Amino acid sequence: MSIFTNRMEREGETVKAMIGLYCRDHHKLKVADCGSCSELQSYALDRLHHCPFHEGKTSCKNCPIHCYKPDIREKVRQVMRYSGPRMMLRHPVLTIFHLLDDRRKEPLSDYLKPKSVGETDEDCGGPMNEGKAS
Ligand code: SF4
Repeated sequence: MSIFTNRMEREGETVKAMIGLYCRDHHKLKVADCGSCSELQSYALDRLHHCPFHEGKTSCKNCPIHCYKPDIREKVRQVMRYSGPRMMLRHPVLTIFHLLDDRRKEPLSDYLKPKSVGETDEDCGGPMNEGKAS
């Protein structure tokens, strides 16, 4: 698999790069050595792994359902606000792909997993149930 051909892989690498930038500048650590950023990264990668839209996904900010718990979503927003403007210098290839990927405003329904719509509580952390514990 490659970031050039696989969107899920690319999004995972982008998430890691953005959290890495944030952690380096705010906590002076690598993500692997930072409890809070490790936890955030694991959560984000887990959501991505269980994304019901899979390769047909939008960027998470354009997602119609949003599977993140509200408090974690806010943390991710903080990271994105900080790292977003810095990404082009540090990770130009990922940034260009992200800009291209971001042009998709709605998920591609062809990619919906057959059981995902009815199984969001278990499968994706409850995208239809934001605010409930997952
Ligand atoms: S369901 Fe939406 S918010 Fe969750 S990982 Fe997929 S695109 Fe992102």
